[in-house]
Amino acid sequence: MITVNKAQGENRSLCSRRSYPREVVLKVLHDSYDHPTAYTVYERARAIKPDISRGTVYRNLKLLEEKNEILMLETGGRFAHYDGHTEEHSHFVCRGCGRIEDIFEEPSVPELFAARGMEVLKTQCVYYGLCESCAKRKNEKR
Ligand SMILES: [Zn+2]
Ligand SMILES: [Zn+2]
Repeated sequence: MITVNKAQGENRSLCSRRSYPREVVLKVLHDSYDHPTAYTVYERARAIKPDISRGTVYRNLKLLEEKNEILMLETGGRFAHYDGHTEEHSHFVCRGCGRIEDIFEEPSVPELFAARGMEVLKTQCVYYGLCESCAKRKNEKR
């Protein structure tokens, strides 16, 4: 997996033994743009801090999500996905290959709520469909 190797390389300067699990989990998510599952986060965290346990990673994911430092996406699949990029964006989930893409262009609905004095605590907008390559493959089959 390319991303794991990349994460390893970038973290060589980080003192791996002494880094806190929470920082490791955050670092993994900040470096990931593919919205990994909890297990994938664990695998990438282990590349940085080999002695980190699965339970520790899962516990920290929950904690960070509660603090709104990361996002948890439930896309209707078997596993939840995590996103370390909390700036407002939507997601496009491909029904063909399962990849999750970030969508940054969006009319701001929360602003409409705010104008009416309503308080939006969390927004999660997910688009489902077929990504470019899956749509192409589907059309070629016809
Ligand atoms: Zn696809
Ligand atoms: Zn995202």
